Amino acid sequence: KIESDKLNARTQGSKRMFAEAKEHLSGGVASSYQLRDPWPIYIERGSGPKIWDVDGNEMWDFHNGFGAMVQGHAHPAIGRAIAERYPKGTHFGCATEDDIIVADELSSRWGLPKWRFTNSGSESTMDAIRIARAYTGRDTVLKIFGSYHGHHDTVMVSIGVEYDQIGDHYHLASLPYGGGIPQATVDMTYAVPFNDADAMERRIIELEAEGHKPACVIMEAAMMNLGVVLPEPGYLEAVRDITKRHGIVLIFDEVKTGLCIAAGGATEKFGVKPDLVTLAKALGGGLPAGAIGGTEEVMRVVEDHTVYQVGTYSGNPLSMAAARASLQEVLTPEAYAHLAHLNDRIVNGCQAVIDKYDLPGYAVGIGSKGCVTFSDQKVVDYETYKASQRGDLAELAWLYNLNRGIFMTPGREEEWTLSVTHTDEAIDAYVAAFEALARDLTK
Ligand code: PLP
Repeated sequence: KIESDKLNARTQGSKRMFAEAKEHLSGGVASSYQLRDPWPIYIERGSGPKIWDVDGNEMWDFHNGFGAMVQGHAHPAIGRAIAERYPKGTHFGCATEDDIIVADELSSRWGLPKWRFTNSGSESTMDAIRIARAYTGRDTVLKIFGSYHGHHDTVMVSIGVEYDQIGDHYHLASLPYGGGIPQATVDMTYAVPFNDADAMERRIIELEAEGHKPACVIMEAAMMNLGVVLPEPGYLEAVRDITKRHGIVLIFDEVKTGLCIAAGGATEKFGVKPDLVTLAKALGGGLPAGAIGGTEEVMRVVEDHTVYQVGTYSGNPLSMAAARASLQEVLTPEAYAHLAHLNDRIVNGCQAVIDKYDLPGYAVGIGSKGCVTFSDQKVVDYETYKASQRGDLAELAWLYNLNRGIFMTPGREEEWTLSVTHTDEAIDAYVAAFEALARDLTK
């Protein structure tokens, strides 16, 4: 309550803007994920690792646009690419040379030869699932309990909130995440727990017996929306083996992990290659861009026009210019080394605070991403997340840090995405705020 009142006093400009916004902008925001109680924070500008809200509050940005801005805000190299592209025209509905350059670069980073572009993560996962369905001639989709893959109907199932409403029956549920999702679509999506390859294979065998053999397994190789949950050793290899043996397309949804946890995302980091990969967020360096990459064999259904993978703005020249500059000039091997240094520093700093003040939880990081998981036990999947997660502490930490100029990702997602423009100073500010919270909590 104290921290909440403090934040409300600091954001009176946002409060006024919210009242104005609600008149014609539904709910006062452009996307429901931007809401927070009692009003959203409206941002004025960003530069490098910092952002400023409309009240003039300066914040170190660890939210980074839901993990998209691994390049930092207004990076000069990306600004130059956009400024050079703009006078030459920004949209033709035809391919430009940058499409080819970006596809080549992604192909060498992921070791997957064929690429197409989209405008968002949701489009990427929607198209990847369609490709898998066309390739296999099947309809069923298997996903992971608690995972988010965008806002199209097929994957707005078994995400999480619904489990609260039906008590401990969550493991049986395949419920839609919100209204407007046809039951017929929900009925085609099944879920299994993360980090349990045996459960996945058992479910696949059951589904095969019922005549619902999956077209694909869609999953994040490291989950990024229960905090950060890493794959247990051997899990991804086992999933790769199971999907191969059963003739199921494996899709790694790398909308969050791609370009953020390594140059070639989770695929490079964990050394397990899927049949299809989906990208978005960091790809466009702050402009909307998504991509689907795949093997020759699976992507053939795009090339022979079995699947219409289309979009007016796909491969938008401005987005592709930004993506090209980002890949060639910003997300370099040195940038990944810098991110690794920063992430070690923040993880070790937070873990030292947890140990010193004996807090329930642990720090976890990978690439540019990480979080403090407030929990009495190790979180390995949605079940352990629900059973142990101290959501009250996570919410308090978000508020507490915001009042001290640290902007974290809200909700249950990964708490921080570091950018190449972050410095030791930013990390030390984060850890200092966390230590102040720990001190206040244990007083
Ligand atoms: N896939 C994952 C893993 C995501 O985290 C998200 C968004 O957070 C999406 C897909 C959807 O991306 P977008 O919001 O660009 O549609």
